[in-house]
Amino acid sequence: MIPFLDLKAINAQYREELIEAATRVIDSGWYIRGEEVEAFESEFADYCGTKHCIGVANGLDALTLTLRAWKELGKLKEDDEVIVPANTYIASVLAITENRLKPVLVEPDEETYNLCPKKTAAAITPNTRAILAVHLYGQMAPMPELMKLAEHHNLLVLEDAAQAHGAAINGRKAGSWGDAAGFSFYPGKNLGALGDAGAVTTNDAELACTIRALGNYGSKKKYESIYQGVNSRLDEMQAAFLRIKLRSLDQNIKQRREIALNYAKKIDNPRIIHPISTINMPDSLENHVFHLYVIRTTLRDSLQTHLVNKSIQSHIHYPISPNLQRCYANRIQQRFILTELINSQILSLPMHPDIKEETLLRIIKATNELH
Ligand SMILES: *Cc1c(COP(=O)(O)O)cnc(C)c1O
Repeated sequence: MIPFLDLKAINAQYREELIEAATRVIDSGWYIRGEEVEAFESEFADYCGTKHCIGVANGLDALTLTLRAWKELGKLKEDDEVIVPANTYIASVLAITENRLKPVLVEPDEETYNLCPKKTAAAITPNTRAILAVHLYGQMAPMPELMKLAEHHNLLVLEDAAQAHGAAINGRKAGSWGDAAGFSFYPGKNLGALGDAGAVTTNDAELACTIRALGNYGSKKKYESIYQGVNSRLDEMQAAFLRIKLRSLDQNIKQRREIALNYAKKIDNPRIIHPISTINMPDSLENHVFHLYVIRTTLRDSLQTHLVNKSIQSHIHYPISPNLQRCYANRIQQRFILTELINSQILSLPMHPDIKEETLLRIIKATNELH
């Protein structure tokens, strides 16, 4: 079977360095909030081009704690509306509802699958206070337009950059456009830890300080809690691993783009729609880091079955949109025709930096056989 993602092979390349880092942490006797976390936070902030980075336990917490911090700082209050793409991963919406804010789901752009400035503008009401812009599949949401819109309506912007480490528009990286951004370092993400991990990036010192406190029992000083906080911290071991893998991130992105271009050029089946930026904008690949290579076809289910028959694993991101999830059955009754249509037609092909040429050609050949 050609796996969708081969984490064992990915991490095997860093084996020696990871073992050395683990040994260093074990021998240090210091496992939470120490030198490794501090160094990673500073290195990742530099990488993204922001002043601050706050390590947290995972990507969902990065988003949840940022919205919570804005509530604590008086910038958001219960029932305020937060605009979010209807086709996002459930975590984006969970971060909003966990804070008792109101998610306003908006249909995506049909070609990029990201927020569309026009539809976003149309969803703004007097109660809108924030936009949660998701860089879905690794492609940047249209940040210049969304930031202009937010400025005009005095809205906060939170980037969900969980799939887009290193993506950029006009040289400006994901995580540095909004008022803050949430990142995930879940093992399968483009920058993946060997367990759960996440971070927030921002240029806002007060926000950074509040998020840090919220993730540490609500305290800035040991044993003094200002907020009813939670325990959500990045640990030394994961930070040490992430420092190693961050050094190869740009190279990995380059390899992902090469694989994407191969798919785009060599899968010439008229029944298949490629992700927009690979075919129409070959020179502006900086805005896509191809966390996923998502194709679209009305014959999705037959294609997936055909690939299985050819021993090729593929996945659907995501089969059930947030509005149709049981957890929101009583809360979100609205239907999202376009999102639901897209979700019935999309398929993610195997994607990771080290797919071998021969494997790639097998996937391309099998995909071209669909008719
Ligand atoms: C992975 C992901 C998250 C959540 O990250 P975790 O670290 O798994 O909590 C949030 N948003 C998006 C778009 C993601 O892909």
